[in-house]
Amino acid sequence: MSKTIFEKIIDKEIPSDIIYEDDLLIAIKDINPVAPVHLLIIPKKVIPTLNDLSKEDSIIVGKMVSLAKDLAKKLDIDKTGYRTVFNCNDHGGQTVYHIHLHLIGGRKMNWPPG
Ligand code: AMP
Repeated sequence: MSKTIFEKIIDKEIPSDIIYEDDLLIAIKDINPVAPVHLLIIPKKVIPTLNDLSKEDSIIVGKMVSLAKDLAKKLDIDKTGYRTVFNCNDHGGQTVYHIHLHLIGGRKMNWPPG
């Protein structure tokens, strides 16, 4: 199967604005931000959608959420608040089939989402 854009970013085949990286995760600035802060927290393991998560992947997902919390604090949006989103498949609005957690903040969000 051909690589997604996020695999290419993880493999440093295409450039991105990397905010954080470790053995398991990478966090980058979204190329098309919808708010003053819009990061993507991406596992290095290829998992196409949330539907493909295994029990063992719970550790990765936990670390993704934990990193979102840490980055929100670092970027000073923790007190005002922020939104974390996993989109899944077509109705969820997923466009890149490699799971990622959106961390969005710096403005007031609306609910319900569009
Ligand atoms: P989703 O629609 O949930 O799959 O989110 C995919 C996100 O990836 C969108 O918000 C895009 O703006 C973002 N995106 C696509 N290509 C890149 C890229 N090369 N660098 C950073 N973000 C990207």
